[in-house]
Amino acid sequence: MNSAKLLIVGPQGSGKGTQGVRIAEDLGIPVVSTGDVFRENVKGGTPLGQRVKAIIDAGDLVPDSLTGEVVRDRLSQDDAREGFLLDGYPRNLGQVSDLDEFLSSRGDELDAVIELDVPREESIERITLRAKEQGRSDDTEEVIANRLAIYERETAPILDVYRARGIVDRIDGVGSLDEITAQIFAALEARGLRGSDAA
Ligand code: AMP
Repeated sequence: MNSAKLLIVGPQGSGKGTQGVRIAEDLGIPVVSTGDVFRENVKGGTPLGQRVKAIIDAGDLVPDSLTGEVVRDRLSQDDAREGFLLDGYPRNLGQVSDLDEFLSSRGDELDAVIELDVPREESIERITLRAKEQGRSDDTEEVIANRLAIYERETAPILDVYRARGIVDRIDGVGSLDEITAQIFAALEARGLRGSDAA
């Protein structure tokens, strides 16, 4: 089965990038991470990268119209026609509407939303550690605080919309990586989106 259309949501430092890759590999679907697309473009010095660099460095959100364009382009590629895992998009209510519109135009909808639940203090600790390891330009203390504030103000509310549709699986994001992956797999199995590992 590789037709799952998934979204993973959680604050910065929740481990959603790592878990997203594990889920996508397991299901044979691509990860569509807007943050990765933007970072690659900044690195490559493309026109898109030049437009978004200052926004990303400040931890602010790239305008919805531009982000929507990037996502529609990516989801229109062959490998994402049947299934995908979105990481980092949608990030506010306007983007939820944009995505709904795009998916419904091709007769699709999201099958499940994985919410990784991690307390604020734990997120900050993990991002600070990552900043030391990876040296991301948007991992300074001030920018981290801005990104978490935006998450709480703009991104957390999108979960209410998806909860009302009955497609959110809330997963405790504190624990070992393997334990968390196992919980996510169990939730996807319960929705019939993944075969069971049990022989
Ligand atoms: P991330 O790696 O998902 O934390 O994304 C890094 C940065 O890319 C964010 O802080 C934003 O500046 C930008 N970005 C990523 N996804 C979006 C989105 N859906 N909407 C607006 N900006 C985004």
